[in-house]
Amino acid sequence: MPVYSHYNLAKKQESLPMAEQIGVCLTCSYWQAETPRPQEQVEMEALCVQPQLKAYGLIVSGASACNKWQKQEGSGDQAEQYAKQNEAQA
Ligand code: SF4
Repeated sequence: MPVYSHYNLAKKQESLPMAEQIGVCLTCSYWQAETPRPQEQVEMEALCVQPQLKAYGLIVSGASACNKWQKQEGSGDQAEQYAKQNEAQA
């Protein structure tokens, strides 16, 4: 399974607002994809429906991330394992 480092690099940016809140779309409740989410979905793309971002019509992959992340309950063991493996919130 590919490991993407871009969001981990972003988290380490001291100037990034709310860096501690950054999480991966694969485990985010605003990622419009069904659960559970197997790790294969890191390359899948889906709409982000976070209220403040929805107007932009963002299509993001499971490996994308941002600081509006909110935990998706039941995202599945594989999704949470991916997030932990990459030090993103799960
Ligand atoms: S872009 Fe942010 S808010 Fe939208 S699904 Fe990904 S982590 Fe969640």
